[in-house]
Amino acid sequence: MRAVTIEPRRAGSLRLEERPDPAPRAGELLARTVAVGVCGTDRELIEGRYGEAPPGHARLLLGHESLARVVEAPAASGFAAGDWVVGIVRHADPAPCANCAAGEWDMCTNGRYTERGIVRADGFAGELFVADPAMTVKVDAGLGLAAVLLEPASVVAKAWEHIERIGRRALWQPRRALITGAGPVGLLAALLGVQRGLDVHVLDHNRAGPKAALAADAGATYHTEAEARLADLRFDVVIECTGAEEVIRRVLRLDGDPNQIVCLAGLGAAHAPAAFDFQGFNRSLVLGNRVVFGSVNANRRHYLAAAAALARADRGWLERLITRRVPLESWREAYERRPGDVKTVLTFAH
Ligand code: BGC
Repeated sequence: MRAVTIEPRRAGSLRLEERPDPAPRAGELLARTVAVGVCGTDRELIEGRYGEAPPGHARLLLGHESLARVVEAPAASGFAAGDWVVGIVRHADPAPCANCAAGEWDMCTNGRYTERGIVRADGFAGELFVADPAMTVKVDAGLGLAAVLLEPASVVAKAWEHIERIGRRALWQPRRALITGAGPVGLLAALLGVQRGLDVHVLDHNRAGPKAALAADAGATYHTEAEARLADLRFDVVIECTGAEEVIRRVLRLDGDPNQIVCLAGLGAAHAPAAFDFQGFNRSLVLGNRVVFGSVNANRRHYLAAAAALARADRGWLERLITRRVPLESWREAYERRPGDVKTVLTFAH
């Protein structure tokens, strides 16, 4: 089969290679890939800044946002040939920490998890893959290609779940949320906020391109800069999805609203260390009962919550998030960044 691979930590090592077709071991299912989504993590991997090959291997098969159809599945696995499926990215290591053992691998404490297509495990950007049925999620065939958004949606579903759990520390009647960054994660975070009945505002630097209309059509208000109106609003929830220093500074602002919950969900490249007012930040958090927390990855429960959220969403809107579909024959183009891109997917022919 053809597969997109890199040598981790070596920039310029991206290539399409021929690999033997994977053969399912007892208990595993075999799936034929329909599409993989490309995200910022893939670009970090390609630039040699992140990632690890499976033990004993020099190269890593990319792709963690999957969509595939089952070719064959073990009897009584709950899966059958033809099912539309998405593979779960993070897996517990064989000697799991307490969280991993409880199925909360997104909260792994020993760091020895694997992530398909990212760290120590091959991903889904090959024409076929094998997977443990317990680490596979069935998706509604009616979603079509939009089901490739399930993995980023699962990351957002986890962020919202944790926000709500933290919110329940006291009376929890959130009204308004700010999402920074209108990439796929930000727009999906906005969608899930609107689905919760919140007044959602999205902040992004893009004036041109489809992001403003996508935010508006999700039911959110789009802002492109530090408008006075934004500063005047009280935000119960902030989800930071850019990882950009100037945006992080802005959401951690010292005059943040009382009881506010800030979820940091983006990652960015480190620059020179910035001066930080620890005392001012401490004062703002203590006196305002504010919470700032980080959120990564997702467990099975979050994939199921994400599947329910996608099922409730407008399919046309979800499809508009996918701004470029690149066939495997032109695979390299899928990893280029182009103006107007929201989500690019690499598609596999059948
Ligand atoms: C993926 C997560 C993963 C994280 C860190 C993200 O792009 O969506 O599943 O945990 O990268 O590797």
